[in-house]
This record gives sequence, C-alpha cells and structure tokens, in this order.
Amino acid sequence: MNNKELADLLFPHIDKTIEDYLTMYPSRGDNHIVTRVAPSPTGFMHIGTVYSALIGQRFAEQNKGTFILRIEDTDTARTVEGAVDDFISHFNYLSIPVNEGPLWPNNADIGNYGPYHQSHRKEIYHTFIKHLVANGHAYPCWLSPEEMDSIRAEQRALKKAPGIYGNYSVWRNKTNEEYVQQYQQDPEWFVIRFRSEGKLGEKVLFEDVTRGKIHMADNVNDNVIMKSGDKLPTYHLAHVVDDTLMRTSHVVRGEEWLTSVPFHLQMFEAFTFPVPVYVHTAQILKVDEGKKRKLSKRKDPESDIAYFFASGYPKQGILDYLMSIIDSKYESWMEENPDKDYTHFTITIQDLNSSGALVDYDKINHVNNRYLSRISNEQLYTETLEWAEQFMPDLAQLMHNEPEYTIAALGIERHTDQDPKRFTNFFDVEKQLRFFYDSEFMRLAKEKPALPDNIDTKTMLHFVDEYEKILDVDGMDKMEWFTQLKEFGKKHWFAANNREFKEWGYNGKVGDIAMFMRIQLACSKQTPDLYHMMKVMGKERVFKRLRHL
Ligand code: GLU
Repeated sequence: MNNKELADLLFPHIDKTIEDYLTMYPSRGDNHIVTRVAPSPTGFMHIGTVYSALIGQRFAEQNKGTFILRIEDTDTARTVEGAVDDFISHFNYLSIPVNEGPLWPNNADIGNYGPYHQSHRKEIYHTFIKHLVANGHAYPCWLSPEEMDSIRAEQRALKKAPGIYGNYSVWRNKTNEEYVQQYQQDPEWFVIRFRSEGKLGEKVLFEDVTRGKIHMADNVNDNVIMKSGDKLPTYHLAHVVDDTLMRTSHVVRGEEWLTSVPFHLQMFEAFTFPVPVYVHTAQILKVDEGKKRKLSKRKDPESDIAYFFASGYPKQGILDYLMSIIDSKYESWMEENPDKDYTHFTITIQDLNSSGALVDYDKINHVNNRYLSRISNEQLYTETLEWAEQFMPDLAQLMHNEPEYTIAALGIERHTDQDPKRFTNFFDVEKQLRFFYDSEFMRLAKEKPALPDNIDTKTMLHFVDEYEKILDVDGMDKMEWFTQLKEFGKKHWFAANNREFKEWGYNGKVGDIAMFMRIQLACSKQTPDLYHMMKVMGKERVFKRLRHL
C-alpha cells in the first residue's frame, strides 16, 4: 500500500485536490497587501486583538489592500455564543473597517475567500491534510492519553524537551499496512501528525519584519495537525492553509506565536507554498508589584477592550493610546497634527514596537484628556451622548432633552487660554454636567456639601436679594463681574482679600461668597468656572438656586 492509498482510506470523502482550491481562491495580484485578524471566539474582545487588528488594518488600507476578519473557532469546547457578534460590533464601534469576513447579519460572509469561520472549512483542511499524508508528510497516530501522560512524565524526569520526536514518535515509522490495520480496529480516535524533518540541535533562520533576522532552534516535534473527535485542524495547520488560500501577504499576530514559526515554515515547505511575511506584535504587559507581566484574561480587567469604554474613555482616545504604544513616532505626530485622527498617520511596520507594550494609566489619561480637550463642543456632546446611551441612559435622556444648554455647559472655558482641560473621561463630563439640569439639581441639593461656617442663611438671603438687583451676567465680562462681586461683597462685610480680612475683622472673604455660590448652584465645591457657569445657567435659574437654602 502506498501513501496515496493510505490517504484515500483516511479521507474517503475528499475528492478535491489542493490545486482545486488554489484555483478557486486565485492570487489577488502580485503586490496586493492582505492582512487579517484571526481571533478565537472564546469570550470578550482582547485588547491584544484590537492592537494587532489596528496594525493589520492600517497597513492594508495604506496600501489599498484588504483586511480580513477570520474566526478561529476550531476549539469548539471554548467557543462562546455571541462572541463573533461582539467582535464585529467592536470593530464597528471603533470604526475599524473590515473588508472581508462574517460581516452580514447572522454572520454571513462578505468576500470571495471564505468561509471565514474555520469551523466551516473542514473539508478544505481535510483536502490539505490528505495531501500531506499522500506525500508522506503526515501520518496517523493512535497514542492514547495514558501513553501521552507517561511520555510527558518520562521527559520531565529526564529533563528532556517535551514533545513527540525521536523514539517518542511511536507511530512515525510504522508501515502503511500497520496504519491500516490499526485504522480498521479504531477508525475514530486517532490524530494526524506532521512528519517533521527538523533535526535536533539545528537552527533555522527566518525574518520577522519588526524584529529582523531570527535564529531559532528548528522544530523537531511531530505536532498534531488534525485532532481526534471532531477532526478539526489545530491552529498551526489552519494558519498555513487559510493564509495561503486567503492570499494573506502579511501575518500580523501576537508574539506568542513566534516560537511556532519554525514548525509553520516546515509545513509551507512541505506544501511548496510561499511563506507570508511575518509581523509578530508586542504583547501588552502590566506592571504588577514592580515587575512586568503579561495581561491575564482572568485577573486583569484591562485585557478586555470593553473595560476601557465602561470606564468612560472615548474610543478615539483608546485608539490614540494603542497607536502610541504600537509606534513610538505616533505621540510626536499627534502633537504636530492636533486636528487629525490616527487614520492620517502612516504606520511603518519595520518600526513597530517589538518589546512589550505597557498598560500605562498616565499615558492613557494623558492621551484621552488630550482627545476630549481637542474636539469641538458639538463633537463632545455627540460622543458623550453616544457613550451615555450605552452606559448612563438617564444622562443621555437629559442631554437629549436640552442639547443647546448641554453644549453650552460642556463648552465652559474650552478652547480658551484658560482652558483647564476638564475632561479625561466621560465620568468627568458627567460630574461636571449633571447638576446643570434642574431635575438633577433638586435631587443633588439634598446631599450638597455644608456651606462655609461664616455664612448664615439670613445674611445670605439678604445678600442674594441685593445681588439680584445689580447682577448683569450677560452684560459684563469676567473682570467686570469679579470687580463688582468684590465691591458688593465688601458692603456685606466680605473682604476682597486676605489682608483686608485680617486687618478689619470682616465676616469672611469674597472666596466664601464664591464657595457659597458654587455649592448653591452646583451642589458641589468643585465646579467649572463660576462666572461662566452663571452665564450658561441664566439669571433666573441662578437666583432660584441661590435661594434654595
Ligand atoms: N486565533 C489566534 C489567536 O487568537 C490567532 C493568531 C493569528 O493571528 O494567527 O491568538
């Protein structure tokens, strides 16, 4: 029996050849750039997925290429329902355009190089695996879980490298007749292993775009390429097949796959397929007790991109942050191009950050504050509203009811020389906005901070009555307003400054009046600029609130 007959026996249902598929999915043109993001639908959208997707998408778009979303769902036990929709809605939310993938409703495919779910590509994989078996590059293996355990235990005890190689690859050198005999006894529970030609102690040389030339120990393991049970391929085989058929030019993927490259190169060689360009992206790290470590899916909320939006960061700010850790040139570019968003920046894949990128809240806050400070008041309104619709519907309703009042309230001191850049995230916006609404004011007033000690209600009510007579907040600029307030305060025995206060035994200082007004108007000691706040609120509302003692 020859290898081809063995392949026919193991895959009787496969009647296509790999050439059929190569014809079915033709070249997209010699220089057409194709990148893809290939998440496994095992839960939430990992920040690393967005990081790699941004690089791949930007690079493809810069070169008028194609960016694909491929769902790597061969681990059926870990597949979570709804995860694909979650990926797609995140790409939409982040405005990261995807050209091909399961993008139609019900995850139907867009594009001619699908199916884009690996679980729908079983027949394709079987064709390619059959080809490897027919050419002597792969073989069936019936090692039982117990046998695997004892191999592992022995390797551990003898401090040998783990894996199925040398004498441990029990099924590698069987005759085809022996395979057939075993297959007839047990046609279900076998795996297919790749027959590695790698030699122990030898090194391979390959190139990664960001890291340059890499020397790495060659792969000597006969790794599994098709699992028993569901007979789906492992990641490795699927990578080689899919990236070949989808005509991926650049494989942008996490650094954790770097050590698998020697094995992947062996498979490309066995098929005689060209190898795509590899771009292994830095892992995102966190400092924990002074040490850097990988983000943990279970322990670190930051591993889920949605966490940042729930924490109130605007999506553009998070994209700016990711870009700044992707490419160190981005931050200075941002400073030079304050009005442009990241899509105007050209990524150079050779220059990408190749060491671990850090989750750094100083940088996250800085970049997000910068973003929220630079957009127009209308844009700030729109983005806050969009965020609030998802995370704070009651605020969204309030904003929706009074758009112009809200925009004026948000706009206080923004884009002026005095701009205190008040907002780093949407929770800051909420804190400085909510009290503007009258219905909220009534609620917040019940819990407002105590007024300064030297302020008694009777004096203040009198003060308020008098102040109402002279205040013309619309007709005065800030200087005039403040000069008037100081003079008026003096009349009511509030000193204009410290010196007067000490020398003349005043009731208090003008600052106390200002604090009184802040608390009365905003139910808080920290408010936007008092003068501007009064202007936005309008005289009638201001005095209603001042009297609400
Ligand atoms: N499914 C793999 C992962 O989530 C994708 C790696 C790749 O992009 O090839 O890590």
